[in-house]
Amino acid sequence: MARPVEAGSDAVCVYCSEQIRFSARLKARKVIANVYVEGRWDRVEQFHEDCYERSGQAYGPARG
Ligand SMILES: [Zn+2]
Repeated sequence: MARPVEAGSDAVCVYCSEQIRFSARLKARKVIANVYVEGRWDRVEQFHEDCYERSGQAYGPARG
């Protein structure tokens, strides 16, 4: 799901390995993907919204 990046975020984008920085000016958004392994929740991965698109929507369409 796509969410605004909150101030103080220190998440790192899985796709480009750069920090997902808060920007009030750019209204940055990130995609949070729940990753399931063998049907069980395993981890959360975070992407810049643009990176998620470039990744071919690795975990399906971002909703919300
Ligand atoms: Zn990125």
